[in-house]
Amino acid sequence: MSDDVSNEIRKDMGVSNVEAEAGGLAKYRKYVERALAMPGVVDALLITADQVVFDGRTYLKCMYGCTGWNNSWVCPSAPGALKPWEAEPLLRKYKAILLIHTHDKESSHKASLAIESEAFVDGYYFAFSLSDCSLCRNGCTYPGGEPCRFPQKARPAAQGMGIDVFATARGLGLPIKTLASASEEEQNWYSFVFIE
Ligand code: SF4
Repeated sequence: MSDDVSNEIRKDMGVSNVEAEAGGLAKYRKYVERALAMPGVVDALLITADQVVFDGRTYLKCMYGCTGWNNSWVCPSAPGALKPWEAEPLLRKYKAILLIHTHDKESSHKASLAIESEAFVDGYYFAFSLSDCSLCRNGCTYPGGEPCRFPQKARPAAQGMGIDVFATARGLGLPIKTLASASEEEQNWYSFVFIE
């Protein structure tokens, strides 16, 4: 079964909602529906903090070899950014998390930020999304020493906060793999909205 077919079945069967209600997350179900209606979103699941896999080794992959290091305001190289081992205890405080699956970074960022905003207005005042930043098509201002253009909208990537996105997605039956060429193979992007 292809990843896309698998995802369509998950959406058609409402697998996310069944799992969410079993986990006591039914009151957040509207965010699943909202996310699934957004452009580029292929799946959305409500999960709990114990389903998010943390592993501080993500910092090694950020610091050594990632093109974002010292090139983006949302990367853990930015001044004052939380280290993974600092972020984990904060993120573990949340009891309801929306995981959003797309095939591109921009859709992932837009959808998660929109859900974060809606959840905040709904009263979940600690709602916070992790998505990486897709806003400046002509490049981040960080290398030039200028301030972030959209600090209200820029959000860190989940891996920068110590989340093992591969293990988290696989643990939920969602597709993800390392790619030899990101431009030639289908990508799987995951963003998180930590709701409450
Ligand atoms: S909004 Fe622009 S300047 Fe700010 S982190 Fe994102 S890409 Fe960089």
